[in-house]
Amino acid sequence: MIDGKALAAKVRDEVAAEVEQLGEVGLATVLVGDDPASQVYITGKHKAATGVGIHANDVRLPADAPEDELLQLLAELNADDAVDGILVQLPLPSHLDEAKVIEAIDPAKDIDGLHPMNAGRLYLGRPRLVPGTPLGIMRMLAEYDIETKGAQAVVIGRSSIVGKPMAHLLLQAHATVTICHSRTVDLQRHTLDADILVAAVGQLHLVGADMVKAGSTVIDVGMNRTDGGLFGDVDPGARERAAYMTPVPGGVGPMTIAMVLKNTVTAARARRGLVSGVS
Ligand code: NAD
Repeated sequence: MIDGKALAAKVRDEVAAEVEQLGEVGLATVLVGDDPASQVYITGKHKAATGVGIHANDVRLPADAPEDELLQLLAELNADDAVDGILVQLPLPSHLDEAKVIEAIDPAKDIDGLHPMNAGRLYLGRPRLVPGTPLGIMRMLAEYDIETKGAQAVVIGRSSIVGKPMAHLLLQAHATVTICHSRTVDLQRHTLDADILVAAVGQLHLVGADMVKAGSTVIDVGMNRTDGGLFGDVDPGARERAAYMTPVPGGVGPMTIAMVLKNTVTAARARRGLVSGVS
């Protein structure tokens, strides 16, 4: 099993050392409304940020906050020199235009890597700030010496926050990449070919054990909450066939938060004109 928890602790230590070197590093999170899951995520990110010495500012707006108010707030955070990273917790309430809000974040402070400028740079093979989940997965592959060059990689899911950036990072790491999604016909035909399989769908055990290639690496991004606890997109039985697999919980989740902190430091370094640390 790939130990995401242990690796996340290692990344947090690296970040803490960089924060100490840089002096003050500031993060601002913005939560609109009171969605319980979002509150849990924001609290987790704050705890982690404070733990590595990042100064974290927790901005909350009511669920009915007008778009102008949010855009004005982002303009202020963009202009605030003490803020290195800005994170708007998604999803936003339905009256807010998510794309417009993301585009209002200064790309240099966009630590979720969702601004078109950052997404475009990744597409062009010149990434700056990349979403934490796929970045964390690349770090896991590197840490466990899993060869990406020439590997057949299959990514299930095509979201802007996981699937698409994941596919681009793997492509940049010289894998041959297939992206599967909700309209893919015969998913198993693709997954059985995968040396590296990344499942980012949000459907409990969509990937059965018999859909996994023997000796492959399986990265389970899915987070499916049931009465029995938190489960992934991949049947845990797949670990019998896979050479490496991430558990849920304790795999991709902790790494995502650690990489968001890493991105905050990357943004802080770039804003100070320093060469960015390796992510
Ligand atoms: P999303 O809903 O935006 O995207 C889901 C994707 O799955 C879509 O692109 C869709 O085409 C694809 N899909 C749906 N049904 C499918 C099917 N039957 N076969 C193949 N593909 C199918 O979700 P997301 O934001 O990318 O997140 C995906 C999952 O990862 C969710 O469970 C989410 O909670 C989890 N997640 C975990 C972390 C983490 O830190 N662990 C971070 C982000 C997302």
